Amino acid sequence: MPFVVVITGIPGVGKSTITRLALQRTRAKFRVVNFGDIMFQEAVKAGLVSHRDEVRKLSLKVQRELQLKAAQRILEISQKEPVLLDTHATIKTPLGYMLGFPKEVIEVINPRFMVIIEANPSEILGRRLRDLKRDRDVETEDQIQRHQDLNRAATISYAMHSNALIKIIENHEDKGLEEAVNELVKILDLAVNEDA
Ligand code: AMP
Ligand code: MG
Repeated sequence: MPFVVVITGIPGVGKSTITRLALQRTRAKFRVVNFGDIMFQEAVKAGLVSHRDEVRKLSLKVQRELQLKAAQRILEISQKEPVLLDTHATIKTPLGYMLGFPKEVIEVINPRFMVIIEANPSEILGRRLRDLKRDRDVETEDQIQRHQDLNRAATISYAMHSNALIKIIENHEDKGLEEAVNELVKILDLAVNEDA
């Protein structure tokens, strides 16, 4: 049975850091797949974009097609090894929030866990200001809070269309990281028995 753990969190929440540390500690062997990378590869193949931050600005129809293609590729990978899927519950597009997992996409991926990494809006804002590599949208603390609220709601709908359990992990500045990594490791370790 495929074992997919979806890990989400808005930009700047510390998702990549927690994931990297948890992978060093788990006894399970996961293939890390970045949903955005796969969509970007498909978009480049189709000659649609040259930078990954352009993907969310493509037409909704095109993004939906790319999403479904990416989901098929991820399903194939998960049939061979456990997958840790780094992605987003919702994506902020110029016209509104787009679901990261429309019904047909979540049904293909059928994750065991939907992990949401959260932090306080002020912590997220600070981390975004320190990470200038990315072409990130500038948001206020209120907007960040609303986006996190929306992501929880979206995740409920994904659990309805899959067997996923929802796990919320908080990543706070003061000693939050260690605890957050421990919680993710507990989930990843569950894949060990599935390998047999
Ligand atoms: P990231 O590098 O994780 O910030 O993701 C980069 C980009 O990939 C996002 O801005 C979206 O355009 C796209 N992306 C990632 N996950 C999804 C998804 N589940 N559905 C649609 N687009 C996604
Ligand atoms: Mg990231």
